[in-house]
Amino acid sequence: MIAPTRLARTAWLAAALLATSGASAQYDPARVQVEPPAVAARFAAPAERYDTPAFDAAQADFTGHAQMMARLQAIADRPDVRLRQVGTSGQGRALPMVLLAHRGRWQPDKPTLMLVTHQHGNEPAPGEAILVLLERWSAPEHAALLRRVNVVAVPRANPDGAALFARGNAQGADVNRDHLLLRTPEARAMAQLAARYRPQVVLDMHEFTAGDRWVKKLGAWAKYDVLLQAATTGNLDPGIAAAGLDEMLPAIRRAVEAEGLSASWYHTTTAAPTSPVAMGGVQPDTWRNIGGLRNAVSILHETRGAGIGKQHLARRVQSHVVAAEALLREVAERGPALVALAHRADRAVAAQACHGELVVAGQQTPERRELTLIDAQTGADKAVDVDWRSALRIQVTRQRARPCGYWLAPGSEQAVQTLRALGVRVQPMAHPRWLQAERYQFTDVQAGQRQDGRGAIQDQGGIVQVQVALQPARVRVPAGGWYVSLAQPLAGLVTAALEPDSQNSYVAARLIELPREGTDDRLLRVMQRP
Ligand SMILES: [Zn+2]
Repeated sequence: MIAPTRLARTAWLAAALLATSGASAQYDPARVQVEPPAVAARFAAPAERYDTPAFDAAQADFTGHAQMMARLQAIADRPDVRLRQVGTSGQGRALPMVLLAHRGRWQPDKPTLMLVTHQHGNEPAPGEAILVLLERWSAPEHAALLRRVNVVAVPRANPDGAALFARGNAQGADVNRDHLLLRTPEARAMAQLAARYRPQVVLDMHEFTAGDRWVKKLGAWAKYDVLLQAATTGNLDPGIAAAGLDEMLPAIRRAVEAEGLSASWYHTTTAAPTSPVAMGGVQPDTWRNIGGLRNAVSILHETRGAGIGKQHLARRVQSHVVAAEALLREVAERGPALVALAHRADRAVAAQACHGELVVAGQQTPERRELTLIDAQTGADKAVDVDWRSALRIQVTRQRARPCGYWLAPGSEQAVQTLRALGVRVQPMAHPRWLQAERYQFTDVQAGQRQDGRGAIQDQGGIVQVQVALQPARVRVPAGGWYVSLAQPLAGLVTAALEPDSQNSYVAARLIELPREGTDDRLLRVMQRP
């Protein structure tokens, strides 16, 4: 559970200072890629001024951990603000969360917007923008809005990565590929918050590479200020998916374009000449896709800023501020309808248990697409025909009948604890019993690596890639196992975790050991309600 104590100011500051005393930030302005003047001229500074520590001319670095904590403390006494610590990073830094709600009390009948910032430590603009947003939204002018909506913010989801100015956390793990497996303390803290507050809308704030790989590969710089994508993964509730694609994304896009900022679909690539340009992935591992499987309208918002230091920082911060404010207005306006939408999705997902087919694995659809970049020499638009991987149409590569649930053998504590940390209901089975089940026969087992649209994921260790055949059986299971029903709102997380033959499964990650020949079943598909 989340530690519900409101930390005393002195203890909080002491912890923050202690955590930062051992490590100095590793942002190096000398390693920044400087834009050619013709490219830089395309991105005028906004009229708006921001005052976070990164904008202090005397400070080379972005806002440090202790500076962020001090900023959060400075608003913590406002009437609608609650500041809490929800976890501790690998290097011992506090993981703070801020709740903004009427009189600081979460209102369950009002929609909740959850903002997650700085999962990748080398993407700094969101970490500055969230301080601007929290300061603004907790001011008296926003008190009326906070009667209609709750805000849960994680202002620095990966504080060690931010201090190291690195994408991964202190162990090198990509926090944003860890939202099903929960191997990092950072992802576990976010899962606790999502399970506690059940947000109807989640926003994940990042930055994408402006030059580097685009320059190496196509001789051009990224053009758009803002790239956007909603959840795109198998087994999403169609109503939730549509609310993201047809309502929330257009609302953000209209708001940023009204400020003279440009927007497009999220896309990325590698420097390898033959690699495609891929939209955000379709695997159930990112905060965006896991958010969708939590039946939240889930949005990824990225600004053009990775690799270019503080160039255009005000414009990047403005992009995040405008997008988040547009989303907040949208959530407040929809109000109870949004709460009803999520409840309906919860019921619809749970009602699918024992029925229909589920997606085990899918991939992006190859397309050709004209991508507009900025010519490095002239600064003019440069259209390039690219091999594009669309996440808007998912090609299902494996699907099978949806069971009623799964049985996990005694000894599966690690998997059970992880499912429960996600908010999944897991029932202990105290007595031996007969189950109408399907057994997995593992027909092929190989070592592998998780992939996303660009290639192998920066990851700790590999995975076990398995192929399975299903065998119907009436099985007498021993006492001491667990039943994980699909008749629950988070069934999409359950199937992502427990169907073994996908790259994010708990078998692939060895949270569930493969059965050895001659040993008992470890994992069964349960085909009739026990
Ligand atoms: Zn990122």
